[in-house]
Amino acid sequence: MSQYGMTIGGTSVKGEGSFDVVNPATGQVHAQAPDASPEQLDAAFDAAREAYKGWKDDLAARRAALHAAGDLLMAKAQELAPVLTAEQGKPLGEAAGEVFASGYWLKHHADLEIPHDVIRDDATAYVEVVRRPMGVVAAITPWNFPLLLACWKIAPALLAGNTMVLKPSPFTPITTLAVGELLQGVLPAGVLNVVSGRDPLGALMTAHPVPRKVSFTGSVATGKRVAAAAASDLKRVTLELGGNDPAIVLPDADPSVVAPKLFDHAFMNNGQICSAIKRVYVPDNLHDDIVEALAALAREAKVGDGTAEGVRLGPLNNAPQRERVAELVADALSHGATAVAGGKAVDGPGYFHEPTIIAGATDGFALVDEEQFGPALPVVRYSSVEEAVERANGTHFGLGGSVWSADEDRAYEVASGLECGTAWVNTHLALHPGQPFGGFGWSGVGTENGPWGLEGFTEVQVRHRAKG
Ligand code: NAD
Repeated sequence: MSQYGMTIGGTSVKGEGSFDVVNPATGQVHAQAPDASPEQLDAAFDAAREAYKGWKDDLAARRAALHAAGDLLMAKAQELAPVLTAEQGKPLGEAAGEVFASGYWLKHHADLEIPHDVIRDDATAYVEVVRRPMGVVAAITPWNFPLLLACWKIAPALLAGNTMVLKPSPFTPITTLAVGELLQGVLPAGVLNVVSGRDPLGALMTAHPVPRKVSFTGSVATGKRVAAAAASDLKRVTLELGGNDPAIVLPDADPSVVAPKLFDHAFMNNGQICSAIKRVYVPDNLHDDIVEALAALAREAKVGDGTAEGVRLGPLNNAPQRERVAELVADALSHGATAVAGGKAVDGPGYFHEPTIIAGATDGFALVDEEQFGPALPVVRYSSVEEAVERANGTHFGLGGSVWSADEDRAYEVASGLECGTAWVNTHLALHPGQPFGGFGWSGVGTENGPWGLEGFTEVQVRHRAKG
């Protein structure tokens, strides 16, 4: 059983206690993770505060360290993939992809310019605007992409000169702990501290007096708690929360071209992606063809342990999540919708659910209105494009959305009416470290990635020198 320690002040530390981590493909405990005590959390924040003193002033060292960290992760992608699959469930190839992308994210951000503007230079004054680091940052991550989403925070935060205490989800702490240990070799002690534990560890972090910012990715419900806790001493927050992304297929689209792409962008990581396609709006003329094409793909997709050859979809990450998806599907069926493929959780060990295509559901069904975060895709009919856009915009969420058509210009025009952080045309889930990512409404507050994400880890300071 793997036994990684927490990283506090550059060394590996056991927890005061420990907790079980379950392999979602088997339902069996596969690792123990350290359970941090409040004193250990204090020690992590103290280490981060101490490390900040040297780290904030040496940009060249920060760039070099982030490159070294990124190179290390890219080189270790194959080695770390089984560690990630064992706790998260995703197929090995996707796990290796996540580790590799995490390294790529670190390296991309290592080279970003930190904005610095001279806004006045005349006979009477020299005025510049600089971005200063905030100090110590708390980062809290979910279980769907434990490492990549941690690196979305680590990369800009550290480049800007902050230091960090990072806490992974108790469902998936192991890969993050392993990477914390790995990076002890390339990051100065205390710059990146990794603690693990069952909740309320997260709540202790947001209430802690040391961090000046909380960068959080997770559910809407927890995000609201984080915002409320941070408000008490005006910590800055970035909240990357849920999504319920619509895909609108226009009447001229070719179902045989569009359906495989819709399927990929809905079922990647078993649908456990905040910005995966969660509902597809199709016109009457394409409805039956799209439903049948998606159902055929769902029936063909090999479901199983992510370590097995040829597996396309692993298990859901945890029992409550599988329960939630099964309940939403059962609710839709009980209200008259049809499961054209799949339709239920799979009995037996592990948290599997059949890849499911639902026809006959519409707005007002919980499966359509709420974030289901799993392998169940409702296909919803519409009559006019204007109506489809209005319905697509009709939820509290606004993370992403896409429009699919043979006419890219028309699709672009329709996509620009979507009220969401990313509007895609003929694709979905196309992400890049240099492209901002964030959501409208309940999907979050603030933006991650690229120069926009970097700004979120800085404070603006005006330096005004009077002349003469
Ligand atoms: P969650 O909110 O249950 O947990 C997220 C993290 O918050 C975990 O580390 C958890 O331990 C911690 N936490 C729990 N209570 C806390 C508290 N009171 N204060 C501080 N931290 C606390 O979310 P989850 O179930 O792990 O993740 C799934 C959710 O994450 C989905 O809603 C998904 O859409 C969202 N998500 C969003 C993005 C994005 O970028 N927008 C990306 C991935 C996932």
